[in-house]
Amino acid sequence: MGERNSKPRATGRRWAAAAAAALLALGLYASTFVVSYADLLRSDDPLLAMDVARLAPARVARVEEIRSVEQLQAVLREARAQGLKVSISGSRHSQGGQSYREGAVVLNMRGFNRILVVDPAALTVTVESGATWDEVQRAIASHGLAIRVMQSSNIFTVGGTLSANAHGRDIDVTQVVEVVERFRLLLADGSIVEVSRQENPELFSLVIGGYGLYGVILDVTLRVTRDELYEQRSVSMDYTDFPAYFAQQVKPDREIALALARPSIDPDPQSFLREIVVVTWRRAGSGQTGTFELTEEQHVLRDKFFLGLSRRYDWAKALRWTLQKRIELGAGEARIVSRNNAMRPPLAPLELLEYRSPRDTDIIQEYYVPTETFIPFLDRFREILLAGDMNVLSSTVRYVTPNAIPALAYAPRGDVFAVIQMSNVGLSTAEQARAAAVTRLLVDAALDHGGTYYLTYQLYPTPAQLQRAYPNAWHAFERKRFYDPDELFTSQFYERYGHTEPR
Ligand SMILES: Cc1cc2nc3c(=O)[nH]c(=O)nc-3n(C[C@H](O)[C@H](O)[C@H](O)COP(=O)(O)OP(=O)(O)OC[C@H]3O[C@@H](n4cnc5c(N)ncnc54)[C@H](O)[C@@H]3O)c2cc1C
Repeated sequence: MGERNSKPRATGRRWAAAAAAALLALGLYASTFVVSYADLLRSDDPLLAMDVARLAPARVARVEEIRSVEQLQAVLREARAQGLKVSISGSRHSQGGQSYREGAVVLNMRGFNRILVVDPAALTVTVESGATWDEVQRAIASHGLAIRVMQSSNIFTVGGTLSANAHGRDIDVTQVVEVVERFRLLLADGSIVEVSRQENPELFSLVIGGYGLYGVILDVTLRVTRDELYEQRSVSMDYTDFPAYFAQQVKPDREIALALARPSIDPDPQSFLREIVVVTWRRAGSGQTGTFELTEEQHVLRDKFFLGLSRRYDWAKALRWTLQKRIELGAGEARIVSRNNAMRPPLAPLELLEYRSPRDTDIIQEYYVPTETFIPFLDRFREILLAGDMNVLSSTVRYVTPNAIPALAYAPRGDVFAVIQMSNVGLSTAEQARAAAVTRLLVDAALDHGGTYYLTYQLYPTPAQLQRAYPNAWHAFERKRFYDPDELFTSQFYERYGHTEPR
């Protein structure tokens, strides 16, 4: 009887083993969308500087972990004595070597991050420039305060944010320059100056949006606001309806505080960069309640899995768009969220975006176009991305009001829509050349539609394109050499663009 049963039992075991092996292989394959195994084997060279996109690695002389002003002054003295250049880095999320260069001493400002004063009466906060928005949020939330202007994520430093003049989702106060009251700046000669609209106003204009070329931003006083509850609402429409919808329904509504729009990444030609979901955060009514407790990131593995799938497959992009739209549009229930939480994970995720494949990377780009030319620009934008076969993973649109104070102003005149795209591109020379060529076409498209592009990303645009987008650039770089005649502060960004005279 035992012998009669042994054959089927052996066959059963073989099937079970095969099924287990198949499941294991499937699990391993699925995990490659979440984990970069090659990255686990990587040994970090502490002197190989890179930003988050890993496009422009460079060997630096040393990295100084900054904790105090006295230490900063000593490091500058030593660098000058050794004939070394200096670069300044925050969270290193700029993507074009703005925070380092070959052979430089890099000041890592992340440890220079004390919260100095929280003043709920004056609605201001004073912090050291290496503090991240997350650290600022944690310090001010218990006082019932929230940040006025910050990026979509809270990982960036205050110094990095000022140096890019970042913008956020608030539709009344859009650029960080608007909320900076004052800061102290350490100049190349080791002296410290107070900078505000009244004191050293030229430095105020040069440093905000000046990419670390004029000195080290020390402590900064920023205007903040009261934390409050918002109701998050979303509506889907065709992109051609968006500018009028924004002008008639969003902008004039005094109760709407934050807004963003998300064009479709579904490769279906009827949908790709045509369908658009507009999300608004409107002050909650008196009967609506919600929590002011700070939220943290959730579902990282799940979201990484779907983002990873969409890097490789068009069907997964369509699926991600459908799921995202379903979540964003909701099922009719009121979604109440505090201002602080609207500006931190999980609503503004971070870990999801961490990606370190040795073969490819995710690049972000941003174009600012007048609200009147948004529709023709988006048509050209779509055409160029499709012709260039770009692997577009996400796109958002924000509203930015003009401000001509920064010498390198990206929106000096009228209201603009900031059009952002994130694409996955190969790291090989050929793939990079293709990404650069597509980017130059996109920059030309923005310029032809009366717009500009964001300097915080790759160095793909030509110096002539930068001069066209920023007619004041030559003057700004000349003034850099006035304040820093030995060009102590430098970066890959400055070396590419800082010495090209306008044609
Ligand atoms: C996923 C992602 C989302 C983003 N979202 C937005 C967004 O919503 N809105 C937006 O406007 N931008 C956005 N950005 C761009 C971002 O705001 C800028 O790249 C910003 O500069 C990053 O800050 P950081 O701390 O990483 O600075 P870093 O990249 O480390 O440095 C940026 C520049 O600041 C200089 N710098 C840093 N600290 C100091 C200091 N203490 N003194 C003087 N100079 C200093 C550096 O030298 C460098 O030139 C985004 C970028 C990424 C990658």
